[in-house]
Amino acid sequence: MITMAIQKSGRLSEKSLNLLKEAGIHLDNGSQKRLLTRARNFPLQVLYLRDDDIPESVADGVADIGIVGLNVVEEKEKPVKIVDRLGFARCRLSIAVPKQMDYANRQQLNGLRIATSYPNILRKFLQQHNIEATIHEISGSVEVAPGIGMSDAIFDIVSTGSTLISNGLKEVETVIESEAVMIATPDLAEEKQQLLDKLRFRMQAVRKAEQFRYILLNAPNEKLETITRILPGMKSPTIMPLATEGWSSVHSVIREDEFWDIIEQLKANGAQGILVVPIEKMIL
Ligand code: ATP
Ligand code: ZN
Repeated sequence: MITMAIQKSGRLSEKSLNLLKEAGIHLDNGSQKRLLTRARNFPLQVLYLRDDDIPESVADGVADIGIVGLNVVEEKEKPVKIVDRLGFARCRLSIAVPKQMDYANRQQLNGLRIATSYPNILRKFLQQHNIEATIHEISGSVEVAPGIGMSDAIFDIVSTGSTLISNGLKEVETVIESEAVMIATPDLAEEKQQLLDKLRFRMQAVRKAEQFRYILLNAPNEKLETITRILPGMKSPTIMPLATEGWSSVHSVIREDEFWDIIEQLKANGAQGILVVPIEKMIL
């Protein structure tokens, strides 16, 4: 049995649960109302916590693994291993100053009071750059601190920057880029390590599949050589004869980000009836 800590309710919750679902792991509906839920078809239990408590619970071994923002992992400085970057809940932690300030370089942060809920990350950054500033720790609504005279600058999460703008602030230094990560107790028991490997294998198959599309098309036989060159596929494309003499059906896999380029080349080379379909799981 492996225990996974995920955020009880907040920005990470839905995507974390989705990841489990796509890995074929079923939890009972409404299970989030309880603290701990056992999965029905995998030796896994889910522990629902506030995101701030996840690194500690994994470091202590209360949970074996967890899904949490890299920003929280870095701030809490607990001994946990980062196993995977999960690609969602992307944001950055940045320093922002009032928009009327002429900001040319970091040394201007000297002597300022900076409000933040991430004092540890900020302290490291300031030390690294030999900046002497006062860290003013507050737990929420950091962005209003300069407006009410509580600080001269802030250090906080930014995703689009619109919160900063509406508070008369501008972003001047990006300190870390964050996304959701999977963390684990550093010395997992063998049995738990195997369960984690199984889980990661499944999650990677889903993530890989999202980057690719399955493509089917019809082509005249004399164009097959060119089309095979445009469509490399996993090994090579599948080619099957059509009932119509002189034509074949070609099946392959293409990268989602190359999709339009490839379609244009295929059309220019005589492909017809092109179908592109999503892939659910991909195991290489
Ligand atoms: P909790 O009640 O669990 O303590 P919280 O209010 O601290 O929740 P959320 O706002 O749900 O946390 O954010 C959780 C994580 O999502 C953050 O630590 C960060 O990694 C990421 N995140 C936060 N804000 C944004 C944003 N605007 N865009 C994208 N990701 C974000
Ligand atoms: Zn939190």
